[in-house]
Amino acid sequence: MFGLMQEGPLLISSLIEFAALNHGDEEIVSRTVEGPIHRYTYKDCVVRSRQLAKALEKLGVEQSDRIATLAWNGYRHVEIYYGVSGMGAICHTINPRLFPEQIAYIANHAEDKYIFMDLTFVPLIEAIVEHIPKVKGFVIMTDEANMPQTKLSNVICYENFLATADDDYKWPVFDERTASSLCYTSGTTGNPKGALFSNRSTILHSYAACTPDALGLSNMETILPVVPMFHVNAWGIPYAAAMSGAKMVMPGARMDGESLFELMESEQVTLSAGVPTIWMMLLGYMKENNKKFTSMKRTVIGGAAAPRAMIETFEKEYNVNVLHAWGMTEMSPLGTACNLKKKHRDYTIDQKIDLSLKQGRAIFGVDMKIVDGAGKDLPWDGVAFGNLLVRGPWITSGYFKGEGGDTVVDEDNWFDTGDVATIDPDGYMQITDRSKDVIKSGGEWISSIDVENEAVGCPGIAEAAVIAVAHPKWDERPLLVAVKEENASVTKEEVIEHLKGTLAKWQLPDDVIFVDQLPHTATGKILKTKLRGEYKDYKLPTA
Ligand code: AMP
Repeated sequence: MFGLMQEGPLLISSLIEFAALNHGDEEIVSRTVEGPIHRYTYKDCVVRSRQLAKALEKLGVEQSDRIATLAWNGYRHVEIYYGVSGMGAICHTINPRLFPEQIAYIANHAEDKYIFMDLTFVPLIEAIVEHIPKVKGFVIMTDEANMPQTKLSNVICYENFLATADDDYKWPVFDERTASSLCYTSGTTGNPKGALFSNRSTILHSYAACTPDALGLSNMETILPVVPMFHVNAWGIPYAAAMSGAKMVMPGARMDGESLFELMESEQVTLSAGVPTIWMMLLGYMKENNKKFTSMKRTVIGGAAAPRAMIETFEKEYNVNVLHAWGMTEMSPLGTACNLKKKHRDYTIDQKIDLSLKQGRAIFGVDMKIVDGAGKDLPWDGVAFGNLLVRGPWITSGYFKGEGGDTVVDEDNWFDTGDVATIDPDGYMQITDRSKDVIKSGGEWISSIDVENEAVGCPGIAEAAVIAVAHPKWDERPLLVAVKEENASVTKEEVIEHLKGTLAKWQLPDDVIFVDQLPHTATGKILKTKLRGEYKDYKLPTA
């Protein structure tokens, strides 16, 4: 017997309509590429999203057409999220930090029909336009007064385009499984692969994101997503914020410490979200300029492991609660969040920080397990570590156009994340490494993340990466490649001495090299493949 509850498709258009109706006067504030701060409400946003959908329809855009964006976090990008997905087309966010050839590859692979771009990215598209002949036109996300001179043909001015339609558009109703957005993984090896999200997966992910054991969003929050809208839909925040009626503050192109701090203060931001590299810059600025927050209460750190020193600074110096979270593009992206349980209520601040080094507990909807090399389940004892597998309604079942083959998930739908992790008896998962990055020293595995986290806690060290280097006796041994803080005079011996405080002797790096900067991927992660290539013939002093 079926239940007698109504069945309506879960559609992205409903999010913005809900926000406009129930939180109509709540603001979306954006730092624009043109310069000034732009401010409007969810009510204004829904009107313009509808106009955009109607204008796209008049232009001949059809369901499931791919409409690409090359854009920062800002209100027009939010309108494109809703207008495009709401009309049943697919919003393809392109990461502008990719190499131009990769952008051309992705635009061709996705068969993008139109590309919307912020003024910043016009030269980027001009440089590759010959390589993307199938794109029908280019929409520049500005008004007529700010339209640039460009050699692109078929150029449309966003504001003029919007003005061609009124807002009497009725969102179509269609199957909730219809694809809504497309995001290619950064692909450090092989071709980039597209994760294709659906209306259904996006709504379910938004519900999950709002729960207290995930991001705990509500109308009480003012959220500033530093994580870009081209990086897994800014971790789903533009959708979850609309679902909860939270005020959104969009930083645009300026993500340096000073600009972020200014915006957090002027808009009284309570919650933010971003990768450790961003927080490193913000904390650096605040320390140098002796700044304190007046409204920030929580920050989400994800995308890479949150180092202890960073969590400590937020918690102890600035009274900002760190929410360590883990996920990946293929997971929309939220998988786990490190919220406390009742049993941790009386923990000291240091015990709480110890716990928040873990990536956290699964959010309802995400099944998670760890397995050994033979695929056998491993215990949740906080010690055994193995390959981390996940499954659930916002986790990929395959890549766009079958890229990556048919075996993306096993017969029970488990998706191998490529991460290696432990899970403790309370369900807290801790990433020990990417499976490709673990250092296999003799019979033992050394977690590069553990060593890196300790290394950045050493005074004078700004950033650190640990890679495996071939060793005649141990197969592989760790090499630490580090960037010093400005004017720091820290030595190799001092770093090793610092690491001895927490690491076993066999886990210590065999050598430390100082460099001016580390290579990063387009999403801000340290590009270990490049480092491994650079140091593949490096002769360790112990070899
Ligand atoms: P992406 O798809 O680019 O978001 O990258 C996903 C990968 O980033 C994951 O598979 C992890 O290896 C890594 N990652 C994400 N969040 C964390 C975290 N909190 N700690 C450690 N690694 C993380």
